[in-house]
Amino acid sequence: MSAFNVMSVAGSDPSGGAGIQADLKAFSAHGVFGMSVITALTAQSTRGVADVHGIPAGFVTRQLDTLLEDATVHAVKVGMLGTAEVTEAVASAIDRHGLTDVVVDPVMVAKSGDRLLEESATEALRTVLLPRAGLITPNLPEAADLLGVEEASDLAGMHEQAAELLKLGPRAVLLKGGHLDSGHSTDVLVAEGVPAVELTGPRVATHNTHGTGCTLSSAIAALLPQSPDTATAVRGAKDYLTAALRRAEDIDAGGGQGPVHH
Ligand code: PLP
Repeated sequence: MSAFNVMSVAGSDPSGGAGIQADLKAFSAHGVFGMSVITALTAQSTRGVADVHGIPAGFVTRQLDTLLEDATVHAVKVGMLGTAEVTEAVASAIDRHGLTDVVVDPVMVAKSGDRLLEESATEALRTVLLPRAGLITPNLPEAADLLGVEEASDLAGMHEQAAELLKLGPRAVLLKGGHLDSGHSTDVLVAEGVPAVELTGPRVATHNTHGTGCTLSSAIAALLPQSPDTATAVRGAKDYLTAALRRAEDIDAGGGQGPVHH
């Protein structure tokens, strides 16, 4: 049997730590064949995002349709979208091509503080894309933004917000607790009709955390077609991210916040 094809729909990060570049590395590390549709170019280094050059929605559609009319894609990771128009274009391609295993990382603001999704596009993300997702992977600030509430400050609050996010329509929600101040990083996975699962990993002491969200969501997309269920794929992806964080000190990619090392 040939390898699974997994597609990333995301922005480019020239520094190689996040975006399409991180996704393709994570796909290769998990033995799947990576494909990519680029939604935006960034001018970026470890010091932050200097500029964003969005790809017009019509050309994002053209990339998606050209690829998907030819290739079978077994899972999809959606990352940076930039604008409401691109968000809507991706949502309509999901319907047109019957894509099911779609992992949406609701990318809004980079760790450097730079916006990667126009503020006015949050509504399209919430109402048009999230209902079409198989799994969404928000961190605590993204969850708060999507729900219009304060950030959860403990595990009980995370369970409540994960359940609220599920009501927005995705089949499953992985709410990432890495922003909580604790010795561990605990994420909450919820899906309709099954008990919530808490996934705990060690907190790795490194400043080099650029690209953690991209890496986790793309590793999940790579593992989904190879796993018996979503929780198994998420567990495997979390272990991979822990190892990539531990290796982060091996590389010197610039003077700012370094990337995780695939
Ligand atoms: N650049 C691109 C293209 C991204 O998709 C992302 C995150 O999803 C980032 C930068 C920011 O990554 P981080 O917040 O991990 O530094």
